[in-house]
Amino acid sequence: MKNIIFLGPPGAGKGTQAKVAVERTGLTHVSTGDLFRAALREGTPLGLKAKSYMDKGELVPDDVVIDMLLERLEQPDITAGVIFDGFPRTLEQARALDETLERRGAQIAAVLLFAVEDEVLVQRISGRLTSKTTGEVYNRYFNPPRDAAGNDISDSDEYYQRPDDNEETVRNRLRVYHNQTSPLIAYYRERGVLHELDGQQEMADVTRQMLEVIGA
Ligand code: ADP
Ligand code: ADP
Repeated sequence: MKNIIFLGPPGAGKGTQAKVAVERTGLTHVSTGDLFRAALREGTPLGLKAKSYMDKGELVPDDVVIDMLLERLEQPDITAGVIFDGFPRTLEQARALDETLERRGAQIAAVLLFAVEDEVLVQRISGRLTSKTTGEVYNRYFNPPRDAAGNDISDSDEYYQRPDDNEETVRNRLRVYHNQTSPLIAYYRERGVLHELDGQQEMADVTRQMLEVIGA
């Protein structure tokens, strides 16, 4: 079982690069943000609970996230290993992940830190668009969806902006990242598994660097 963590602030490109990594490695993509959004679409109590935190740009409490994650790891598609995207986000989550992997005789092979400056993140997040039918993520400024003739169709009904991708919530998410998640950088550096990527490059260049680090 090979497990890799994509660590970095909101909008750093973790989800975008995780899609490519999964195609190249056969690992399973586990995004806790996606799991919460799916729970919310289904209207489950978990989804409704998470929504109140997501709307404010706060972290969902550790016990809730950890329970959901452990349940996800029980699914049969987790065999080759996992690309963790947006988890862990606190030291408590990191310790819980270490414990559960250890119980399975597994460990973290690599942690990729996607480094991007705050002002770039705010712009990326304000332009993030998601397709209603495919879930594919685009960007109004950097990677707009196009029709067959090559026209920019960012304003079509097919694409929506996540409700938490507004400037006010984003500022709070960045504060939360710097306060609660960035201590994980030292945590994984001490374990000798941290690799820092320049997340501010063009997508294809980030991809090249990412694939090199994970050996795919
Ligand atoms: P982004 O892509 O902007 O980093 P995510 O989709 O990963 O955002 O997360 C959206 C929201 O879901 C977060 O702001 C937070 O409220 C919640 N969330 C996702 N993962 C976690 C986690 N590991 N711990 C706590 N809250 C989480
Ligand atoms: P995260 O999962 O870390 O929150 P995403 O992968 O969703 O980040 O990327 C955030 C937004 O920025 C998306 O709209 C995506 O299309 C765009 N994006 C991702 N990587 C890059 C890049 N290297 N350059 C410019 N825009 C990017």
